[in-house]
Formats: sequence, C-alpha cells, structure tokens
Amino acid sequence: SAPQLKDAKLFRQQAYVDGKWIDADNGGTTEVTNPGTSEVLGTIPRMGSEETRKAIEAANKAWPAWRAKTAKERAAILRKWYDLVMENQDDLGLLMTMEQGKPLTEARGEIAYGASFIEWFSEEARRIYGDVIPAHQSDKRIMVIKQPIGVVAAITPWNFPNAMITRKAAPALAAGCPMVLKPAEQTPYSALALAELAERAGIPAGVFNVVTGKASDIGGEMTSNKTVRKLSFTGSTEVGKLLMRQSADSIKKLSLELGGNAPFIVFDDADLDAAVEGAMMSKFRNTGQTCVCANRIYVQDGVYDAFAAKFAEKIKGLKVGYGIEEGVSQGPLIDQPALEKVEEHVSDAVSKGAEVKVGGKRHELGGTYFEPTLMTGVTRQMKVAEEETFGPVAPLFRFKSEEEVLEQANDTPFGLASYFYARDVGRIWRVGEGLETGIVGVNTGIISTEVAPFGGVKESGLGREGSKYGIEDFLEMKYLCVGGV
Ligand code: ADP
Repeated sequence: SAPQLKDAKLFRQQAYVDGKWIDADNGGTTEVTNPGTSEVLGTIPRMGSEETRKAIEAANKAWPAWRAKTAKERAAILRKWYDLVMENQDDLGLLMTMEQGKPLTEARGEIAYGASFIEWFSEEARRIYGDVIPAHQSDKRIMVIKQPIGVVAAITPWNFPNAMITRKAAPALAAGCPMVLKPAEQTPYSALALAELAERAGIPAGVFNVVTGKASDIGGEMTSNKTVRKLSFTGSTEVGKLLMRQSADSIKKLSLELGGNAPFIVFDDADLDAAVEGAMMSKFRNTGQTCVCANRIYVQDGVYDAFAAKFAEKIKGLKVGYGIEEGVSQGPLIDQPALEKVEEHVSDAVSKGAEVKVGGKRHELGGTYFEPTLMTGVTRQMKVAEEETFGPVAPLFRFKSEEEVLEQANDTPFGLASYFYARDVGRIWRVGEGLETGIVGVNTGIISTEVAPFGGVKESGLGREGSKYGIEDFLEMKYLCVGGV
C-alpha cells in the first residue's frame, strides 16, 4: 500500500526530466516492493536508452546557464534544497523505510546524513580556487583555473537511497555541472522525492534529472553517449568494471565506489567494551548492508573468548522486524538473492568447521528477514573471508600476531574501509599505515561524515566523495599560458 505522508506530493511515481514529470515513451512500468511487508508499494516508468538520451540532451541544454551562475547563486539554491530536505525529514524517512526496509530511526538519520552533503557542497561551491604559478620565462604568466566538467551521469544503489545520491549530485551541481541520475530499481522513490524538492528549491529545469527503468539500457546510453563527460557510480565491483569498460570509448572521467571486504581487528590491548560497541555499529548498521560494514572480524588470541561472549550478548539484544515498528533495530534484507547469499555464506562456513553462536538462519518473520548471527572458528578458507556477505553475519577469525593479521586483512582485492581497536601508540601508527584501504577507523566503528574523503583503493574504486576533495571529481583543470607580457 502507498505510504501515508504528511506531504503526499513527495511520493512521485514518474521520472523527472527537464523539469517535467514524465512516463516511459511506451507507457511501461515496473513495480516496487516494500521488503518489510512484501507488498507492492507503487510503480515507476520503465524507461530505456531513448528516454535517457533525451535526459542527457536536456541536461546539456541546461548546462550553460547553470555554470554561468555565480558560485554564490548556486550555493543559495543548494542551501534551499538542503533546508527542504531537512524540513521533510520525517516523510523522506518513512518513504525510505517503506522501499528499503531500514528502521525508521536509521532512515531519518540517513536523511540528515544525505542532506549534510548538500549543505557542505553548497558551502564548497564558493571555494573552487585556481592557482597562479611563477612562470618559467620572464615574458610569460601561468594560471590554473578549475571548470565544471560537463554533463554528469550517476548510477546509485539501494542501500543508501538518499545519501548515495546527494554525495554525487551536491558536488556536481555546486561545481556547475548538470546531472542525469538513475537510482536503484528497488529504491527509486527516495530519489524522486529529492527531485521534487530540487524543483521546489529552484534548481532549474534540466539541471537535475532522474530516469528510472532498465539498468543495462540506461547505463548503456549513459556510458556510450559522448555528451556525458563523467560517470559517478556506486554499486558492485562487477557492474563497476562493466561501466568502466563501456566508458573507455569516450574516455569518461570516472568515480567508482565499489564493493568492500572490511576487516575489523581487535588487538589484545583494546578496550573490549568499546570494541564490541564499535563492532555492533559497524557490522549491524542497515542489517549489514553497507559497503563499509565489518565483513571479517579478527580477534587476537588473548581476548578472543571474552570478546566473543560480550559480542554474543549484544547481538542477542537486537530486535528484528518491520522498520516502522517501535524498537526495531534490524530490518529485512533487500530481496531474495540477498537472503540466499547470506544463507549460503553461513552454510559454507559451517560446512568447513565454523560454529554458530547466535542466530544462523532465516528469521521466523519470513520474507527476507534473517537472524543476526555470530560465528566463531572462522578461517580464510571460507566464503565469508573472500566475499562481502552484505548481511547480519559476524564471523570471528582468531589471530596471534600483528604481522599475521595485517597480511590477512590485506589479502583481498578490495580496499574500502578497515577498522581496528588498540591502545599502543606505535601499533596505531603501524597498523593505520599498513592497512591497504582508503578509510581506516581507529577505535571507532563509524567513519562516515560529509567532512572527510570517502573512497577506496584497489578494486574498491576510484575517486573520493565528500570533503573538500569531493568536488575535484567534477572539475577539469585548465592551465593558461599567457605570452608576450
Ligand atoms: P547491488 O548489489 O548494490 O544491487 P549493482 O551494482 O547491481 O549492486 O547495482 C547498483 C546500481 O547499478 C543500481 O542502480 C543498478 O540498477 C545498477 N546497474 C546494475 N546493472 C547495471 C548495468 N548493466 N548497467 C548500468 N547500471 C547497472
């Protein structure tokens, strides 16, 4: 059933292109399901390459006027967008819980987190500085300016239906670029609500466009269309690689936020209660469905049993259920394939000798609910060591030395986030510098903020989002050499 919002206009079931709400050319639609209740929530237009091409043209047409605005003018419009998102936090949160499944408090938290990128980049819009370089010849002057790259295409995932959009759209728009966005098919309504608020904020027609429909067709057009100068993607490494290959012909600038396989290390000298607290937050946020969720938890020999016992108690206290119910901290998994993957990771580990201490199976609520799970005796031969589980399963590995755990932690093609708990100052520096990831949480399980650069190394991606660095991805550098002075 449809969500009961205070402002019913925030529930949009059409795409938004060139300032207009539109259907697919052939009128086709796709259903969107509420993973918490398994009921149909609504439909979205099933668009393809043709509609995407038109959206790209609209964006390109809107570009000159948008980039010609002063940074202060763009900043004021973005600030208005931020204010509107925050004013509608409750509605946007409810809509997100209904399409994505995360508990309402987490959903409202994501709205504030997502909005923080709009606020931040509305401020950064005015700090796009260039440079003057002392010249190599006395009759020359050298200057560096930064200019908006052009039409940006964005493709976003379902795990953060709001924030994964704002961290791309806000810096793009702040830099003076228009955008065509394709949200995940599971969670299009949070994106369309953002478009409704963008319109109300005064973002001109064509500057922010949302197309919905067939991912491969829309992605195919976005990557082959030469007008698109940049693609910003968050999602799986597999699709990221495909989009990178498809973008090769037109040499697009790419930002890729791909999969992770985050190690979470607890050393003998750690504050164990703090480590358990951090592991809970890092592992079970969004029911384990974030790319920075702890995927492999390494605990040093001397504290392994004590950590496992404390962790087990906390996990037993998690309440699983439909996200709009009071007190629920664990929602459903996004869909059936997600549930099957989690189940397979547990059964693979058990078949190779791991022990289930808490949970371990589908939840009695049915649907895509899974019990928060703790496994001990996990080894590197198991699937959980190699692949991102993306679910509420905490596997505990035992280790002896710092050297050994660093080697294991880095033994993966991924390199997004890592975490460790320790108190020895020398160890904090050695391990912090030794972990091959773009983000390291030291004595904390929560690392996401708009003020810091988020992004990975190795096969976890390219580029950074958030912080003063996040806007660089949407700018081209130009150097002017003036002679005959
Ligand atoms: P996830 O496991 O998070 O669903 P995906 O990489 O499959 O990861 O999805 C992330 C985003 O990529 C979604 O918006 C999805 O629709 C989109 N996507 C999936 N396949 C393609 C494709 N072939 N071309 C373009 N986008 C795609």
